[in-house]
Amino acid sequence: MCAAALAASIVLMLAVARGRTGVVGDAIALIGEARTGGLTLVMPEAVKDVRVREARVPGRPIVLIDPGHGGRDPGAPGVSGTSSEKDLTLAMGRELADLLEQRGRVRVALTRENDKYLTLEERAAIARHLRAGLFLSVHMDSAPNPQARGATIYSLSDVASSAEAARFAAAENGGDGALSSEADDSVRALLADVALREQMEESAGLAERMLKRAAGRVELRPSPHQFAAFHVLRRTETPAVLVEAGYISNADDEARLMTKEGRAPLVLALAQAVEADLAARANR
Ligand SMILES: [Zn+2]
Repeated sequence: MCAAALAASIVLMLAVARGRTGVVGDAIALIGEARTGGLTLVMPEAVKDVRVREARVPGRPIVLIDPGHGGRDPGAPGVSGTSSEKDLTLAMGRELADLLEQRGRVRVALTRENDKYLTLEERAAIARHLRAGLFLSVHMDSAPNPQARGATIYSLSDVASSAEAARFAAAENGGDGALSSEADDSVRALLADVALREQMEESAGLAERMLKRAAGRVELRPSPHQFAAFHVLRRTETPAVLVEAGYISNADDEARLMTKEGRAPLVLALAQAVEADLAARANR
């Protein structure tokens, strides 16, 4: 090899080495960017806004609190004409998240922290993305009968516990923000799945635990544990319940649910039940 060729090959090697370094550097940057990019593509927009509040001890499960409705979907109107379901669910959801954060035994996040519209699938996708250990959707009931009052807890089931529960689930599943029929079909195919059975059993156990904590402290409906086929609960792929905190079509319930003090007993009962449920599952 002549000197010129040697010099040329050294220059070439240097160029390749520099090139490689560049490639490696780029690849590292690309991997990081690709992950962020991948998440943005795969996850709905809603996921990016979710903030997880840490527990006092690392590695604790995430409780995902889902204030029902929001944005262009106000939910049920209050009987006084001054409240709407979406505002009350947000207030109560935040209070529950604050309390859980303050107690520090679990990590906690909210599907929405402001007056934002989210589809049911987006809410479920957030739960799946976070691998939430527990999903709790907060709602306020409404009925034509102004005397109807008290809290109800719905857990996931493929069989509704009553005609009313079936109608309620159909109303929640249908309409604006419903899951696509494609998602619906894949959900139906999962019905025989063992994991789904387990999800239903754990959801029912969670509902029972919540009612036990709430009994005597919070006004409950005569049959407070109801079962219904809520697509949003199923699609979270984790133990999930839907809490109807009371009837805002009833003047007493509405007045109670419109203040922080009025909501506090149920918020505390839910927080305690959530912690107990996750602790029990961790110890199994
Ligand atoms: Zn609702």
